[in-house]
Amino acid sequence: MKIAKTPSELKDILKTYSSSVGFVPTMGALHHGHLSLIEESVRENEITVVSIFVNPTQFLEGEDLDKYPSKIDADEKICSFAGVDILFYPNINDIYEEDEIKVIAPNVRGFILEGFSRPGHFDGVLTVVMKLLNIVSPAKAYFGKKDAQQLALIQQMVKNFFMDVEIVPLETVRESDGLALSSRNIYLNDTQRVDALKISKSLKTATKLVMQGVLSTQEIKEKMQLVLEPLEVEYVSIVSRSFSPLKEVEIGNSIILVAARLGSTRLIDNLWV
Ligand code: AMP
Repeated sequence: MKIAKTPSELKDILKTYSSSVGFVPTMGALHHGHLSLIEESVRENEITVVSIFVNPTQFLEGEDLDKYPSKIDADEKICSFAGVDILFYPNINDIYEEDEIKVIAPNVRGFILEGFSRPGHFDGVLTVVMKLLNIVSPAKAYFGKKDAQQLALIQQMVKNFFMDVEIVPLETVRESDGLALSSRNIYLNDTQRVDALKISKSLKTATKLVMQGVLSTQEIKEKMQLVLEPLEVEYVSIVSRSFSPLKEVEIGNSIILVAARLGSTRLIDNLWV
């Protein structure tokens, strides 16, 4: 596995290959969720590039940028074992300069749910993803459904800017008890780790209700809130796959989303129905 520290180093290495590239952007502290994206890219492409970059512009003032977990040695081994060809591990100054042009999230879809809770977050995400896609020029880029709104906005950016890359969405990987894997799970203490299960349980409750024929989003959200108690819930929402509000679940076109805080740790999860 080759390691590139700067965009020009990465571009020089890529010039030596003629094959099409699969790309997995991450912020590191890799877990099995990341690994599922990497493995799919390795399966589908001759060359796989993984980036590890904790992008400062997607963190709001007071968020966990300074304490975001960093495990570069372990991450390097995971990538190497998984068959990654190039690990791209740039510094902030290699990616950003002063007074830049930015990508701005759309007014409606970019400012509900995560965009409402974290104003400016998606501008940072879209800007860095645009940069990374331009540096790597992959044929395919792999993203988790765990970050459903991020995925939808990246798909919209690729469409709106006529970018030549296929975005491949992959399923959320969970612990055996249902907790969605996240680099932030390591912040949870034992009690919070148990409480966090209420999030996936509330989504299971929603699935059961839909299977019983309950489609009213109001009714489903109320039942989910009961399961989530006494967590500090930021939102429970049911939207279409294009993030429009729904009065009734449309099977095959709906996403049920939850964001909740456990102490200072903010977790999100969702279910595609
Ligand atoms: P991050 O390192 O948190 O920026 O995540 C990098 C990529 O991994 C994103 O596309 C995430 O959606 C994806 N990802 C994070 N957690 C999971 C998970 N539990 N299952 C599948 N993909 C995930």
